[in-house]
Amino acid sequence: MRGTLLGCAAVMAAGWLLAQPAKETAVPPYKNAKLGVEARIADLLQRMTLEEKVAMLAGSGWMESQPNERLGIPAIKMADGPMGIRSWQGSSAVTNAASALRVTSTAFPAGLAMAATWDPDLLAQEGKVIGQEVKALGRDMILGPTVNIARQPLWGRNFEGYGEDPYLASRLAIGYIKGVQGEGVIATVKHFDANNQEVERHRIDEKIDERTLQEIYFPAFQAAVEEAGVWSVMSAYNKVNGQYCAENAYLLHDVLKKQWGFKGFVISDWGSTYSTAATVNAGMDLEMPGGERMKEWFARPQTQADGNGAGWLTPDKVLPAIAAGQILASAVDDNVSRMLRVMFAAGLFDKPHAGGGAVDTPEQRAVARAAATESIVLLKNEGDVLPLAKSIRSLAVIGPNAAVARTGGGGSSLVRPSYAVTPLDGIRERAGNQVQVTYAQGVSIPGEDAGKDSPAARAQLRQAAVAAASKADAAIVVVGNAPSIESEGFDRTTLSLPAGQDELIEAVAKANKNTIVAINAGSPVAMDPWIDQVPAVLTMWYGGQEGGHAIAAMLFGDFTPSGKLPVTFPRKLEDTPAWGHYPGENLHTEYAEGIYVGYRHYDRANIAPLFPFGHGLSYTKFDYSDLKVTPDKIGPGRRVQVSVTVRNSGARAGAEVVQLYLHQAASSADRPPQELKGFRRVMLTAGQTESVTFTLDPRAMSFYSTAKHAWVAEPSVFDVLVGASSRDIRLKGNFELTAR
Ligand code: BGC
Repeated sequence: MRGTLLGCAAVMAAGWLLAQPAKETAVPPYKNAKLGVEARIADLLQRMTLEEKVAMLAGSGWMESQPNERLGIPAIKMADGPMGIRSWQGSSAVTNAASALRVTSTAFPAGLAMAATWDPDLLAQEGKVIGQEVKALGRDMILGPTVNIARQPLWGRNFEGYGEDPYLASRLAIGYIKGVQGEGVIATVKHFDANNQEVERHRIDEKIDERTLQEIYFPAFQAAVEEAGVWSVMSAYNKVNGQYCAENAYLLHDVLKKQWGFKGFVISDWGSTYSTAATVNAGMDLEMPGGERMKEWFARPQTQADGNGAGWLTPDKVLPAIAAGQILASAVDDNVSRMLRVMFAAGLFDKPHAGGGAVDTPEQRAVARAAATESIVLLKNEGDVLPLAKSIRSLAVIGPNAAVARTGGGGSSLVRPSYAVTPLDGIRERAGNQVQVTYAQGVSIPGEDAGKDSPAARAQLRQAAVAAASKADAAIVVVGNAPSIESEGFDRTTLSLPAGQDELIEAVAKANKNTIVAINAGSPVAMDPWIDQVPAVLTMWYGGQEGGHAIAAMLFGDFTPSGKLPVTFPRKLEDTPAWGHYPGENLHTEYAEGIYVGYRHYDRANIAPLFPFGHGLSYTKFDYSDLKVTPDKIGPGRRVQVSVTVRNSGARAGAEVVQLYLHQAASSADRPPQELKGFRRVMLTAGQTESVTFTLDPRAMSFYSTAKHAWVAEPSVFDVLVGASSRDIRLKGNFELTAR
């Protein structure tokens, strides 16, 4: 696997490796699209002065790299992601304001919602249409996907990432990246590495052991490089083991570039650099942002107070460092080559993205809708309250997130769509005139409307909600977070729902026995106060612009929910893996839980979560049978095939996500009780049967040995666990890996 450059399919398509002899033409060889990429780089590089090369190491503006007019090197024009395209004008502070330079584009569900689909093909479709929109808007690069692991549930950016499991995150990231890059748009996997908290994100020093990095915090990046051929990697703000990620030679040089053979370019996170020679020598290729915008932004007191660093790879700093022998000219050649390689491969010289194409097209909306639909997870459904009975004539739609579309969490990923469907509008539209829909806010998100935050105002809102609920056949309570509570830049301080929401649910549940709670949030929330008082709970995450349509269709049974949790929902904070080791002290935090992140922790510590990893109910039933593991004995380096028969034994069509976990029975190293090593989403009509197969390769059986600094598959019996969630294992088998 190692050293597969930048993903064969995309690379071949882009002509990366197709070196052909240069012909003498009037057009310089590097402008000849028929020439191989490496030959074009070599030609262009030898035409550049040192000053011109060095100029490319820092951005020219907020979202552009430095162009070169003399040689016709274009700027790489970027746009924030990953959940669609965010306006690229100005800093977060500027773009989040109602700016005249408003850019609208399709708002896809949050990363965690996408992860709940367990559907890499859907991620590939998302990536593809995002790539199309990037081009339509005249840009070249999307700053996504975010693949940082959900180490603890309070992280403000959990909603952006793909959850707690490195294997799941890897498969989804591959889908997204291939989709984007298939369009000739540069994907950026971020943030390398271990950006797992916002508290002191610019200063925190994380102590993480080598095995934990390799097994938990690297795999999604490694897969992005080795399997998806990602063109760009963004470093993280934080420090890992004493060094800022932007100048961390272990991460950038040793692991990313040497071990994984990354041939694209490393880009800094915005304002994450603190040195010149150390940063270039560690393997940083492009510092962002740059130019006047960077200077303006960096001069702001808030930027400094936050702990950002910027402006270290500008020519006035890099040229003297070269003159002083602190940076070799060959290092700069490598930096520039990497950027040029990606620019040639993506076609930026030959087919510039001029823009002018369509954004928010029916096709793009359809992907957003499908994603919102597949992402909803039905957590609880006692007495089959859902789907809503055909006899229902009235519905009370209640809650602070019912009449507002919370499409995403806060920060650089927040997209402005041209429209967004609220749950209330989606339900009204679907209900038509057969079902009467009433609405009550019930409680407001703290700070959104100061007049509604007093105890008296809350009591009044709650009363109105109870009145509406008591008159309806069923009540849908849409609660959750908002970008003011869940965002880049800060972490939540509690697992609890925002003030007043637990009380609202309890009051409504008393008034109506058919109370359905819909969570509109980007991470787990505590439900202990009321979970036993309501028959049904679902999470719609942040569902993007089509979230309201999706939840309505799900409630009315137009489709069978199939989403599965990509994160464990804990009962309480004290149960979570990083409890006691987050957010650290004196700017240090130790990842003392090691590899025991997510379900690995709950399984080992024997803690019953509120809802386990992989959990998600359906309106139909699936039976598992006939587990076959072949062969049952293998030698080193061999693969094992696992097959299982899944039957939809219910009355409706629906999709099941079949999950395969592996456990090593005897090991010289500590191994988790089970680890996800395969999954497949299968769509089955009522009564339909399908055989699902998985291949387990040596990597699936391996752990990372710190003695050998390598992945090692030790001889042992391995238990194969197949089921519908990490805590709903339906079939068990095993095989033996022998020493020879
Ligand atoms: C975020 C990145 C983002 C960048 C540019 C940073 O604050 O961490 O994810 O891409 O800003 O907006």
